[in-house]
Amino acid sequence: MIIDHPVWQKVLPYLKPPSKGRQNFDFSFPADVRAEALAVRVECVACRKMMAPFRARKQGSTRSRVVGTATEGHIFYSGACPGDRDKGCSRTGAAKQHKKELLEVLGFKDCTVSKRGKLAAVTAERDALRLELEDALQSLRIAGEIYEEEHTR
Ligand SMILES: [Zn+2]
Repeated sequence: MIIDHPVWQKVLPYLKPPSKGRQNFDFSFPADVRAEALAVRVECVACRKMMAPFRARKQGSTRSRVVGTATEGHIFYSGACPGDRDKGCSRTGAAKQHKKELLEVLGFKDCTVSKRGKLAAVTAERDALRLELEDALQSLRIAGEIYEEEHTR
């Protein structure tokens, strides 16, 4: 497991937390840590061949969507062989299990909770609005009754 590798403690501070269901292990390294990470070789979790788990994220251009920001420093981690070498490895159950375990180790197990949490917040807001609306309707009904009473005398 990568977390037992001596490089792990060095790269960890540069890990960007996965967000919005995007469960990738992305890093933004300073040059020295980047070189060290890229030199790491571990066994693929699926086929056990030695491979580089830290890889530069290939992008169409070296510019990110933020204008003028080079993305060359961005590295991602994968426990399985890169796609161009062996397409199968990253799609195996072993690779998925590894990813899941790593997310758990990192405390990102509940990534999807944010979505659920958001839903709960929206539901609570909707319920609060509904109560407010009922209150308003009730006030309106009472006002209407008072008006009726005053004008039917
Ligand atoms: Zn492999």
